Amino acid sequence: MRFATKAIHSGEISLEKLKPVITPIFQTSNYLLDDEIYKAFLEGRGRDVWIYTRHGNPTRRAVEEKMAALEGGEDALMVSSGMGAVASVLFTYLRPGDHMVTSKHLYGGSLGLISMMEERFGIKVSYSLPDHPEGIIDAATSETKLFFFESISNPLLRPFLMDGVVEFARKRGIKIIVDNTFLSPYNFNPLQHGADLVIHSATKYLGGHSDLLAGVIVGSKEDIEMVWKTYVALGPTADPLSCFLLERSLKTLHVRMERHNLNALEVARVLEGHPKVEWVIYPMLDNYYEADYARSHFRAGGGMVTFKIKGGNEEGMRFMRKLKIIKEAASLGGVESLVSMPFNTSHYALSDEERRALGIEPGTIRLSVGIEDVEDILADIDQALEGGE
Ligand SMILES: *Cc1c(COP(=O)(O)O)cnc(C)c1O
Repeated sequence: MRFATKAIHSGEISLEKLKPVITPIFQTSNYLLDDEIYKAFLEGRGRDVWIYTRHGNPTRRAVEEKMAALEGGEDALMVSSGMGAVASVLFTYLRPGDHMVTSKHLYGGSLGLISMMEERFGIKVSYSLPDHPEGIIDAATSETKLFFFESISNPLLRPFLMDGVVEFARKRGIKIIVDNTFLSPYNFNPLQHGADLVIHSATKYLGGHSDLLAGVIVGSKEDIEMVWKTYVALGPTADPLSCFLLERSLKTLHVRMERHNLNALEVARVLEGHPKVEWVIYPMLDNYYEADYARSHFRAGGGMVTFKIKGGNEEGMRFMRKLKIIKEAASLGGVESLVSMPFNTSHYALSDEERRALGIEPGTIRLSVGIEDVEDILADIDQALEGGE
């Protein structure tokens, strides 16, 4: 089956063996028990039977099967948020004294969790650039258990050149974890390039309508079973209503992503030629960090465009406030276009110098290009760039 067919037809659940205490959306916390279920539970097969919704829920199972199919993994686990997914994975594979290699080019919440684990639980961390595999390998020690990177980073869209570290990681038994939120499984499948686990904030493109929070982890049966045990202990349970909404959203992921891809490319090209814009980052532009890599690995560039407006943060704020269709808001990946600036949102905790060192220069704007008519998006951007400096 191809992508669209899988999006619509995988993950259909047979109702035959289900005994929910109340009726679907399987908005039930628990299920009727019988001898077969007790037996399965005692034998450690708690995930194969319906007992309690933290352990399993049919509405959630449908999404898990669909996500496993879309990312090309054996199994998947749905949790309550992207951070729930990151936490469940890190707590599964790291013990005090263990080491991980990651990057400062990472979602702020993930960075926060990692430094908390460093301080409180004695995890050792090295930071490397995602697009310098030699640096990642050099940073590894005999204690390294994980490489954790985003397939393209927030907000500067830097790619993780995973091909360069896969063989090394295999040999050393290091797990490669990829947060694929920005590209979505429609544009890139990290498991096919050697990742062990893929994480998504399903809050973004997978949900796609800015109305739910969820996270998902995809990988081998063995890895997902391990992460599931941690997750059951931690408790970030995805609620059945969000799972239902997400399952519905995934049926149109390919249609939405097609339009995000087309609209964002068009917006990136127009911004690139605009006199008020200093630089533009988009994976399908010729000046991208690794244009050949992006073209050979990604189906398309996705919906995120990051650019620097001339005149710094003040001019950036003026631009955002002048937009009419594009809304000023955090988050991304919805059908509506959204805009924000890293300096007062995702990267507010850093000093100007620290932001500059990362490449987040004053005037950096992060645009989540929606699926409206591209002519209207472009006209809105054009009128907002007018005037000012
Ligand atoms: C939003 C986001 C997260 C966190 O997801 P939540 O659903 O907000 O918990 C993690 N990684 C990336 C790349 C994100 O954009």
